[in-house]
Amino acid sequence: MISPLLPTYARADLAFERGEGARLYTADGTEYLDFAAGIAVNALGHAHPHLVSALSEQAGKLWHVSNAVRIPQQERLGERLVEATFADTMFVTNSGAEAIECAVKMARRYHWSRDEGQRYRLITFEGAFHGRTLAAIAAGGQDKYLEGFGPPTQGFDQVAFGDIEAARDAITAETAGILIEPVQGEGGLRVVPARMLRALRELCDEHGLLLILDEIQCGVGRTGHLFAYQPAGISPDIMAIAKGIGGGFPVGACLATEQAASGMTAGTHGSTFGGNPLACAVANAVLDVVLADGFLEQVRDIALRLRQGLAGLQDAHPDAIEDIRGEGLMLGIKCRDATANRDVLAALRERHMLAVGAGENVVRLLPPLIIDDNDVALALERLDGAFTAVASAGLEGAA
Ligand SMILES: *Cc1c(COP(=O)(O)O)cnc(C)c1O
Repeated sequence: MISPLLPTYARADLAFERGEGARLYTADGTEYLDFAAGIAVNALGHAHPHLVSALSEQAGKLWHVSNAVRIPQQERLGERLVEATFADTMFVTNSGAEAIECAVKMARRYHWSRDEGQRYRLITFEGAFHGRTLAAIAAGGQDKYLEGFGPPTQGFDQVAFGDIEAARDAITAETAGILIEPVQGEGGLRVVPARMLRALRELCDEHGLLLILDEIQCGVGRTGHLFAYQPAGISPDIMAIAKGIGGGFPVGACLATEQAASGMTAGTHGSTFGGNPLACAVANAVLDVVLADGFLEQVRDIALRLRQGLAGLQDAHPDAIEDIRGEGLMLGIKCRDATANRDVLAALRERHMLAVGAGENVVRLLPPLIIDDNDVALALERLDGAFTAVASAGLEGAA
């Protein structure tokens, strides 16, 4: 019999009652170390006092009014994100997939408004993940997400990861832009090198294409920079964000330059819930913390210590760990073929630690950005225990 919840998730038999910082507690008080952060969402951990007070204060005043009127909290969020990025304007959404939808529509509409409506296709990269709407699964191009859902939405041409020549060859008279995650999350913590981002920027400039970044997972401080594109010294035309910007409240945004957004006139796009006062009060509170002096520097410091610890973990388990990859606090432990990432994740759960799986047999670590040395030490200890347990189970299995 089907459960009251549509069974689309392979859930662990585990539930939590409350959280604080990087720790989660079950109803019986068992403490877990949270290196999943709700898949990079709880950027400031659980029950961050500043977020709790921003949410509570706004909840007592006004939740929702619709975009038929001005929303001061949304205006403030827009001004701050414009100030902190390449962007001139922003559309607020409730999720990452909706931010991607907005980006795709905007790119098509840009060319259409310049009398080049035939330019609607986007070049994407293998291993990509852009969400679960029909357009987003077509953009991601992964069979496991497309299967059985009818003809994929038109307009996406996928090339090999990191292959600038293939991207160049894929450009036709119908190409509108290039869509890429600066760090692939789902795809296995693959970092797009800065020189590749620069090459893509040049390619876009050369051909009049829009460069669209999906920073839904890697943005908002996750890499130790406000956004992952920034240290590469380039800027996109359009960028989708979500996850961390809400710190756990469902909110996303599509940021764009004035030029890229020029086709999106009144009535061309909308969202009933998008950017309501409650969501924007929380997103502004996240920015208060992430933009504060020294915050990102601290993220880079602790990320470096975690990464050094993971290098030690790899040295201790060379038969199980092939590689440590990723950027900042978006790190992946690439397991060798004989070690299944889901076995490691299960062994971690037994040791009261949460992490996330990713493609290419990677164990993904996405801790809250506020972790300290104790959290890192505990994580390394539990990872060591999990890899030891999985290795000895493997030996028993082989015997
Ligand atoms: C999570 C994610 C999405 C989709 O976001 P949803 O909020 O689940 O719709 C899109 N792109 C990337 C890179 C993501 O990590």
